[in-house]
Amino acid sequence: MKTLRDPKLLDSAIENLEELQSKFSHNKPLIFLDFDGTLAPIVENHEDAGMDEETKKIVNELSNNYAIAVVSGRGLSDVRDKVGLADIYYAGSHGFEIAGPNNFEKDNEEAEKMLPVFDEIEQKLQQELNDIEGVRFERKKFTLAIHYRQVTQEKISAFHNIIENTIANYPKLHKGDGKKVVEIKPNIDWHKGKAVNFLRKELSDQENPFSIYLGDDTTDEDAFREMENGIGILVGEHGNDSYADYRLESITQVKQFLKALL
Ligand SMILES: [Mg+2]
Repeated sequence: MKTLRDPKLLDSAIENLEELQSKFSHNKPLIFLDFDGTLAPIVENHEDAGMDEETKKIVNELSNNYAIAVVSGRGLSDVRDKVGLADIYYAGSHGFEIAGPNNFEKDNEEAEKMLPVFDEIEQKLQQELNDIEGVRFERKKFTLAIHYRQVTQEKISAFHNIIENTIANYPKLHKGDGKKVVEIKPNIDWHKGKAVNFLRKELSDQENPFSIYLGDDTTDEDAFREMENGIGILVGEHGNDSYADYRLESITQVKQFLKALL
């Protein structure tokens, strides 16, 4: 069982690289990577985020040696465009949409039935949040993300209240909080951790393949918890305790770490 710990107490994945690598010396790991805050810097405008060429090159080279999946809260087509590598797997919308090489595709079927409800609540919230400046809607297939990085401090509680009151009428939807973003998802027991477990079966012939997961946000905790036979690495901090085993300080360190795996 993974335990929750203060991120400050986690060992650095860079400083303990040998110890970390000894855990899978006979067993090539599957590699799971979050996108925003892990491969790409967090930016003011969500749409502007991107990986630099060096990171792209490293991930591409890694994919010649390891099975890789990028697991993101972004919609599938969005994250696939941003990463732009054809030979790896992607789990978009926190794993509700999964795709991979050779036209592999798997959507969550229960979530598919919820699409009309998303259309409805998106319209409603756009009207009700109309007076609050700086709110940005991002509709993904199975998630409605509402970004408030640019909303002024004094409007933030009104912002949350409006969403809270609206969502109360939709028991089939669930509200989650990330870094300056509220995400409305189907109220289905499915998250990054379940997506990772699905992909572990898909990407390996082994019963319980060794895995490494890198992520920076609270939604990545669901995946860290699933790393029973594996290593969770927290990038930076998200303000809460973590189920990760190691930490990396920054995207620069992520690059260093992935390079070391090559
Ligand atoms: Mg992230």
